Amino acid sequence: MDHLPIFLQMHGRVAVVVGGGHVAARKVELLIRTGARVSVVAPDLFEDLRRQVDAGSVAHVGTQFDPSHLDAAELVVAATSSRDINAAVSRAARERRIPVNVVDDSELSTFIFPALIDRSPIVIAVSSAGRAPVLARWLREQIEALLPTRLGALARFMGARRKAVKDALRPAARRPFWERIVRGFVGARVLAGDESGGQKAFERELYASHLTGGLGEVYLIGAGPGDPDLLTLRALQLLQQADVVLYDRLVPEAVLDRARREAQRVFVGKQPGESSTQERINRLLIEHARQGLRVARLKGGDPLIFGRGGEEIEVLAAHGIPYIVVPGVTAALGAAAAAGIPLTHRQASQSVTFVTGHVLDDDTLDWRRLASAHQTVVFYMGVAQLERIADKLRTAGSAADLPIALVERATLPDQRVLRGTLSTIADVATAAGVKPPALLIVGEVAAFVSTEALLSMAVPEPGAIA
Ligand code: SAH
Repeated sequence: MDHLPIFLQMHGRVAVVVGGGHVAARKVELLIRTGARVSVVAPDLFEDLRRQVDAGSVAHVGTQFDPSHLDAAELVVAATSSRDINAAVSRAARERRIPVNVVDDSELSTFIFPALIDRSPIVIAVSSAGRAPVLARWLREQIEALLPTRLGALARFMGARRKAVKDALRPAARRPFWERIVRGFVGARVLAGDESGGQKAFERELYASHLTGGLGEVYLIGAGPGDPDLLTLRALQLLQQADVVLYDRLVPEAVLDRARREAQRVFVGKQPGESSTQERINRLLIEHARQGLRVARLKGGDPLIFGRGGEEIEVLAAHGIPYIVVPGVTAALGAAAAAGIPLTHRQASQSVTFVTGHVLDDDTLDWRRLASAHQTVVFYMGVAQLERIADKLRTAGSAADLPIALVERATLPDQRVLRGTLSTIADVATAAGVKPPALLIVGEVAAFVSTEALLSMAVPEPGAIA
């Protein structure tokens, strides 16, 4: 390590900034955020700085640097464009053993500013010891993207309840308790901005910790259409902490691999010949949660679209088990994006409907409405019924040449997009041997320019606009 990373308490202490440009202004702003008393030395002040001086939040103590400006200082920053002045500031600070940073000059500095992620009171600092600032900033962006926005609120929420927990729980029970708070239902409520819901959940959790060592909980997670990169950040966060993962057939291995390595994996998809898997799933959810475990229920696409997620929520609620629902990219959206088909389009389609093609004999679908023009209808679970769906639409008034795209295994490496019309699609599908999972996108948009066509186009000339 080239530097010692420390967090300096600056509240009420004097920091001197030499320089009045916008670089100096950014350092001043940072120092003010720590509660430091900031003095500036500069002949001219950039407008932000001028405003702060006028408002009294920064003191303008001189125009030309003089070592006496450092008399009360505990931290010094030099940000002038003159190396001579910066060197003089650095020398004066070193003589007085005051930490000094000269912006973009590690030789003259005794400390450097890291790239910061500020979710106060949580602060993360990244440094490359001045060697690769761009890399440090890139890393900061990567970390930033992974962290919940309201992390600071959660830290304050926890800080305010430390004493209550200390009074209520034995020392050995406290750490597991806090881990449940950070990662579980309570944390999720606070991170979602619902402090009062978080407070109620916190009280339940504290009470349960007394009784049994903690409540279990269930995460109903949308796994998306298949490509693991389409998982949401929240899905990843919760998968990383689950003790058990219940998954079904639509969830590919690559998605399961994003779960915590130690998590127990339980396949709950329909086995051939089995009729009621849902009762078994409900039972497993309750049993695992009752043991105090964190259960991830991974469902293909979105859990609340043709996923029976609603029934699972009812069961969990009836048993008083906390649950978190994480939306996922539903297959229709994955397929549309992967095939480059817009689901709505100014004139061609003003609405989109998601329909199950599963139960056609006793369906309650309004086929006349589905067959009307200027809209898009997406059929899930429709491959086996392709011919009948096409028939029903034609009988209800759709044109025989209405375009249809059939997207098989959308977003997966072996995805296929087949195109046809109401009258041809069944033959196209049979000839290609299409198998589930696949969905049908029906409507004028299905003839939209295809992503595949892009690959055979010439690379555009620079500057040429069609
Ligand atoms: N909850 C899921 C849908 C479950 S129903 C979601 O929101 O996507 C199962 C049906 O979804 C399949 O029969 C198929 O029609 C569709 N489906 C799921 N994943 C798919 C994929 N990768 N490609 C095409 N269709 C898919």
